[in-house]
Amino acid sequence: TTTELGLNDLTAQLDKAHVFHSWSAQGALKPLVIAGGLGCRVWDHDGRTYLDFSSQLVNVNIGHQHPAVIKGIIDQAQLLTTIAPSTANLARGEAAKRIVDRAPIGFNKVFFTNGGADANENAIRMARLHTGRDTVLSTYRSYHGNTGAAIVATGDWRRIPNEFARGHVHFFGPYLYRSEFWATTPEQETERALRHLERVIQSEGATSIAAVLLESIPGTAGVLMPPPGYLAGVRELCDRYGIMLILDEVMVGFGRTGRWFAFEGSGVVPDLITFAKGVNSGYVPVGGVIISDAIAADFDSTVFPGGLTYSGHPLAMASIVAALDAMTDEGIVENAARIGTDAIGPGLEALKAKHPIIGEVRGEGVFWAIELVADRETREPVAPAVMARIKTELLARNLLPFVQDNRIHVVPPCVVTDSEVAEALAIYDEVLALDLL
Ligand code: PLP
Repeated sequence: TTTELGLNDLTAQLDKAHVFHSWSAQGALKPLVIAGGLGCRVWDHDGRTYLDFSSQLVNVNIGHQHPAVIKGIIDQAQLLTTIAPSTANLARGEAAKRIVDRAPIGFNKVFFTNGGADANENAIRMARLHTGRDTVLSTYRSYHGNTGAAIVATGDWRRIPNEFARGHVHFFGPYLYRSEFWATTPEQETERALRHLERVIQSEGATSIAAVLLESIPGTAGVLMPPPGYLAGVRELCDRYGIMLILDEVMVGFGRTGRWFAFEGSGVVPDLITFAKGVNSGYVPVGGVIISDAIAADFDSTVFPGGLTYSGHPLAMASIVAALDAMTDEGIVENAARIGTDAIGPGLEALKAKHPIIGEVRGEGVFWAIELVADRETREPVAPAVMARIKTELLARNLLPFVQDNRIHVVPPCVVTDSEVAEALAIYDEVLALDLL
């Protein structure tokens, strides 16, 4: 019987029998068993420990099991675990205030969702209602979430204001290493990518476009650092054509880049900001939209046709309050900035100097990608089998990696220490030295 199995085997058996996993053919899956964690480490039931350089899905910014966040959740659970979204609740107000305090001037309201995808759904909804336009432009190299059909499948009145005839148009964003624009300098890439976006806007008909939706730094697509001037140029195009700019800060927000928001410092202020992951490091599922005053004002007298049973769930709200306070008090965002500049960046550049398989290293804070190539001249990506081997070899050395396409994303929690970075760099070094190609 199952009670005779070890807990690792029992977990694997129950998972195989009954758990249906995201983005996978289920048959051959052998998910890693994780039972516990602390800081930048996680472990299984047999006590085998891994250094977590994935932050799970690039969301555990504050590290695993931060005591202040756990306490915030426990205290709230004892007070009130759940309440309807239509009520006023102290934890919800405190969480919203802490979020807008970190946003640019002119952002004073937060709509809470269950995660990142529905944050983007609602930001798109707001932009469409604000502009009276339908089309949403976003880049090919992007990830914004996995919902979309639920409200259109809905049968009651809430469906009607959400039935848009036209949908989504994609364009190419900047990516100098594999430029779509034959650019060889960042200046060229910026200029040509903006020209391309303007031509897409004009070709689709500027007056049909509600929003440009962009990850401030595309994450899953490869930590694609926008070249100087690109975001400002997109803002300028949006202003010229009356288009809302939605910046998706789901992966990059709340410390990952060494700033509270990735767009900080670019001089760009969007119209809507979406967030999730880092806001509470995923201790309880949550996301949301930070709404500029101009858009929020639309819904002072007009009904907002959107809502969720768990919007502003007390346990999630308490975890946000505790996480943001602890991140501030403990200088966790500053640590991410410093360690990126002092340790991760130079460390990865040193690996690049040593290993020809590394084509490019890019990133900042605790948000980096190592792009692996079969040939530095042609920049041909390494084959999927090479990446599978790399993942296996890293795990065999007790490093939990984030591997995507031909890249290793180096994305530890923001609390990562110099010695943990040194440990990880030594493991990457050892694996990249293997005969991989
Ligand atoms: N937006 C970005 C930039 C993301 O990286 C993700 C998830 O990885 C999402 C949105 C979707 O978030 P969720 O999985 O919480 O729905």
